[in-house]
Amino acid sequence: MIIDGKEIAAKIETALKREVDSLKLNMITPSLTLLQVGEDKASESYARNITREADKIGIYVEHYKIPFEVNEKDLIREVEKLNERKNINGILLELPLPPHINKNAIIEAVFLEKDIDGFHPANMGKLLEGAPAFIPATAQSVLETIKSVVPFIEGQHAVVVGRSNIVGKPTALLLLNENATVTICHSRTRNLQAITRTADILVVSIGRPMMIDKSYVKNGAIVIDVGINKIEGKIVGDVNFNDVYDIAGWLTPVPGGIGLLTTLMLLKNTIKAAKIQNNIP
Ligand code: NDP
Repeated sequence: MIIDGKEIAAKIETALKREVDSLKLNMITPSLTLLQVGEDKASESYARNITREADKIGIYVEHYKIPFEVNEKDLIREVEKLNERKNINGILLELPLPPHINKNAIIEAVFLEKDIDGFHPANMGKLLEGAPAFIPATAQSVLETIKSVVPFIEGQHAVVVGRSNIVGKPTALLLLNENATVTICHSRTRNLQAITRTADILVVSIGRPMMIDKSYVKNGAIVIDVGINKIEGKIVGDVNFNDVYDIAGWLTPVPGGIGLLTTLMLLKNTIKAAKIQNNIP
C-alpha cells in the first residue's frame, strides 16, 4: 500500500489552520523569519514553499536575506536581533551556510524557544531525555507518517539507515521514545541488508538514489523513504520504489511522501513557539 503524503498533509493543514484561527482570536499571529545567507537556489525554493504553505495556514513569514560575505560575528548579531524581536516567534536558519561560517555557532545563537528547527543542542538534549521542546521537522514527519498506518509502534523493530543530526538521529530517538526497538545503520555498517531485512519499520535517509531495493526489505515492512535526489531532472528517493513495492506492507513515494509534511511540521513548531512565548498551554 502506498502511503499518501497528500492525504496526511491535508489533515494536518486543516488542524493547523484551525489552531492559528483560534490564536488570532486572542490577537496572536504566529510568525517566523527565514534567515538565508547568500543566494543558494535550493534555499530560495525552500523559502518559497514555506511561505506558500504558511500563507494558507495564516502564519506570517519574513524572508530575510543576508549577503554571502557576512562574517560570523555579524551573522550572530543578526540572529540576536531576531531573538529580541517580540513579533517573531520562530527563526529558521536556511542551510547550507557559507563555508567561512561555523554552522554550530549560528545554530547555538538562536533562542531555544525560537528554535523551530529543533537543531539547537539543548533541544536535541531534550529529545534525548524524551521531553522535547522542538523536534526536527523531518523526524516528526516520519513519525506522523508511520502513525498514520500503524497505531502501535511499541515493541516493533525500527531500523533507521542514516545518522545525520537533522534526520537519522532525531528519527531514531523519536522511535525509541515510542518504545520501538531501534537500530541505527550508516555507511560503515557491516551486512546492512541482513539488518534491514529484520526491520518491521525501515526508515531510509542516506542521499543514495534508489539504493534500497527489495533485497533490503522484509515482507510486509513499513518503508519510509526520506531521500530526495535529482537524477536527470527527475526527483527520486533512496528507495527503489517499483522494486520494493512488491514486498513492502506500506511504502512512501518520492515525491509525494515525507517531503510534503516537513514544511507543515516546521509551521506546527512555529505555532508551538507562539504558544510558548504567549504562555498558552
Ligand atoms: P547526510 O548526508 O547528512 O547523511 C547521510 C547518512 O547516510 C550518513 O549517516 C551516512 O553514513 C549514511 N549513508 C550514506 N551512504 C550510505 C550507505 N551506502 N549505506 C548506509 N548508510 C549510508 O544526509 P541527510 O540525512 O541530511 O539526508 C539524506 C537524504 O534525505 C538526502 O537525500 C536529503 O536530500 C533527504 N532529506 C529529505 C528531507 C525531507 O524533508 N524529505 C529533509 C532532509 C533531507 P555516515 O554517517 O557513515 O557517513
